[in-house]
Amino acid sequence: MNETYFDDSRFDGGDDMDFENRIVSTAYTPGSDEAEVSLRPRHMEDYIGQDKAKENLKVYIEAAKLRGDSLDHVLLYGPPGLGKTTLSNIIAAEMEVSIRITSGPAIEKPGDLVALLTNLNQGDVLFIDEIHRMPRTVEEILYPAMEDYAVDIIIGKGPSARSIRIDLPKFTLIGATTRAGQLTTPLRDRFGVLLKLELYTPEQLALIVKRSAAILGIPISDDGAYEIASRSRGTPRIANRLLKRVRDFAQVQRKTEIDAATAGYALDRLEIDELGLDNTDRRMMESIIKFYNGGPVGLDTLAATIGEEAITIEDVYEPYLMQLGFIQRTPRGRCVTRLAYEHLGMRPPVPAQAPGDQLQFFDEE
Ligand code: ADP
Repeated sequence: MNETYFDDSRFDGGDDMDFENRIVSTAYTPGSDEAEVSLRPRHMEDYIGQDKAKENLKVYIEAAKLRGDSLDHVLLYGPPGLGKTTLSNIIAAEMEVSIRITSGPAIEKPGDLVALLTNLNQGDVLFIDEIHRMPRTVEEILYPAMEDYAVDIIIGKGPSARSIRIDLPKFTLIGATTRAGQLTTPLRDRFGVLLKLELYTPEQLALIVKRSAAILGIPISDDGAYEIASRSRGTPRIANRLLKRVRDFAQVQRKTEIDAATAGYALDRLEIDELGLDNTDRRMMESIIKFYNGGPVGLDTLAATIGEEAITIEDVYEPYLMQLGFIQRTPRGRCVTRLAYEHLGMRPPVPAQAPGDQLQFFDEE
């Protein structure tokens, strides 16, 4: 049979051939915008998982609406690809206001931020992605804007310079960051609502895969969706990307539906193991074992050893490896655990005698 059930008409092919990039990368690939937008849930009911954040948000949104007020400023934090941008769009939709989207590094000068702020309407949402990467001079404009809904700007130079205050509409700032710890205290303290997004369970990701498959017109069985979900590192963006890659394999194999075997075969070919780890994860753990005896090894040393940026290791690889219990962060650096040895098929070292044991020995004497 040469015919397949795959309907490509709704698929833009954006990040399709992006094999150079890591397949389990959580980065937002250029060109994938259109596909992401179509897969992005628009309403709270379609936003799967993150129940705690969702329940709290629903209360805050309802209360703000009852008061006829704008929503308090919200900080969303968690690893990339977990749905921070999506949730911000949903918040704006639920509040029935417009959303302006920008990112920390894109706002280079204080004037850029003033222009953005003065163009907002009452109640609007200003979404700043990667807010921890905003220049300090820009950040200082945000303090009075968030607290007093006003900005102070200096006009003129030298002795004739004077400061004028411009009032702003009551807006809601939604900041997204992968690292809440890197936010300065004055900025963090000005957010009324802090929400941490967690990695998703395979069950939740399977629902996301099924939903995306339905939108893209890809027939998939429950176990096929689960197979993809369980190898997606708890991240919806990866789940959606793997779904598209698996679809390619299924299509070439003339399959009418993605089942567990088809998904498993495709993901094996992509060298993504049954836990969602790829070569880079394995290389990182193997390096700690081979070169540093299982650790501890400092983050910068590890980054140099495997040729990755320290920040990428911290934001992208580690959260999932730590969730699996394969890596531990200690004050002296990163260590791999016994579970990691077992997963890699390597023999864990025999534990050395701890100094405490020796003390006890002398005590007994
Ligand atoms: P972030 O801003 O945290 O990097 P995004 O909001 O851009 O992540 O989400 C990445 C993609 O994952 C979105 O295009 C969306 O399709 C999907 N996604 C994220 N969270 C969910 C969710 N809770 N339910 C369904 N799909 C989701």
